[in-house]
Amino acid sequence: MRKLELHWQILIGMLLGILFGFAMTYVDWGKDFVSDWVQPLGTIFVKLLKLIAIPLIVASLVKGISDLKDISKFRNIGLRTIGIYIITTVFAITIGLVLVNLMQPGNGISQETVEKLTDTYAGDAGVTSKIEEASRQKGSGPLQFIEDMVPDNAFAAMSDNGLMLQVIFFTIFLGISMLLIGEEKSKPLKDFFDSMNEVVLKMVDLIMLTAPYAVFALLAGVVVSSSDPDLLLALLKYALVVVLGLALMIIFYGILVSVFTKKNPFWFLKEMSPAQLLAFSTSSSAATLPVTMERVEEHIGVDKEVSSFVLPVGATINMDGTSLYQGVAAVFISQALGFDLTFADQLTIVLTALLASIGSAAVPGAGMVMLVIVLESIGFPSDKLAIGLALIFAVDRPLDMCRTIVNVTGDATVSMLVAKSVGKLGEPKVKNWDDNLKK
Ligand code: ASP
Repeated sequence: MRKLELHWQILIGMLLGILFGFAMTYVDWGKDFVSDWVQPLGTIFVKLLKLIAIPLIVASLVKGISDLKDISKFRNIGLRTIGIYIITTVFAITIGLVLVNLMQPGNGISQETVEKLTDTYAGDAGVTSKIEEASRQKGSGPLQFIEDMVPDNAFAAMSDNGLMLQVIFFTIFLGISMLLIGEEKSKPLKDFFDSMNEVVLKMVDLIMLTAPYAVFALLAGVVVSSSDPDLLLALLKYALVVVLGLALMIIFYGILVSVFTKKNPFWFLKEMSPAQLLAFSTSSSAATLPVTMERVEEHIGVDKEVSSFVLPVGATINMDGTSLYQGVAAVFISQALGFDLTFADQLTIVLTALLASIGSAAVPGAGMVMLVIVLESIGFPSDKLAIGLALIFAVDRPLDMCRTIVNVTGDATVSMLVAKSVGKLGEPKVKNWDDNLKK
């Protein structure tokens, strides 16, 4: 019998996980059972993916740069990547703002619902921790983010998952220096990283064997810990605006792929679907990164010279889904609380959501922390921040799952565009996941 393709296996795992989670909410001991016996399996899977993210970035980025033979090529790829990332993010925020202004979800929400949401969540530890985290991230000078990018200890940077940009900085520095000392002298180090790269990709394959079971556990866990369904329903219009915007972004990526690379957008989405489904299940572009890299290199045909730089950088700074959500959420909260926004305020949102999405970590819920900074930039009163966040808290996890799909798909799209523009988009190496395992 032919084995089901990986994305179908994952999808079935997800659906069964959701059904199982719902069933367990009806049993007395159900929630505890899921959190004690099922959820840990999902958590282990996410930990395994994060475990290999740093070795994968280091090995593949060193390989990518040292294969270049010429530094000017690297500068070329770098500038194109950052330029396209900024353009797609500004486009995403604009789509979000147009939709939220047209559909006005915040004006339709009743005072009673606002009060109910405020009572339930304004004092919630989840909301207060986001505000505290945001105030920790603020209050630094304009060059702080550049300062933060430079590590003073490469091993300390590699041992902390939140310091991905520092690892990228160190690895680029290492790769460029290897180029400068010439092929002969750098060969032993290059061979070491080449081999490490192969090994880590095999680790991705092995971890992915458990993906269908892991997503079952992850989604069952999300369902048993989700909010009261009445509150979810009250925020339906707001959630729909975000999801509609995110869906438009996926269409936009399809158009970019077909116009600029002449590839079939449905093929692109199908090949990327295992990464997208994992993005949805884990809500983390960082945890999904090893799979995104594997899909883009082996199944789409983007050369490592491009993907090894574009994807890790993208996972950290390019978050189209997050920035779109931040734009919609900021306007929704203002509408619901009767806080008038001028056109200039909306332009400020474009700029701050761009910076906020760059600053958001690629982990669950990070977009909401940076939303606090977007709200403050438009003069939102700080004593009302907790109320503002309380309004959207109930649906934040499902929206986080959806926006992470867009974050990951956006990175993959840009890697194709950059690869095409520098002649590095070839044919996929692997057509079938099983072939990959046999390799
Ligand atoms: N969870 C998102 C990511 O990892 C970030 C966010 O929007 O909260 O891409």
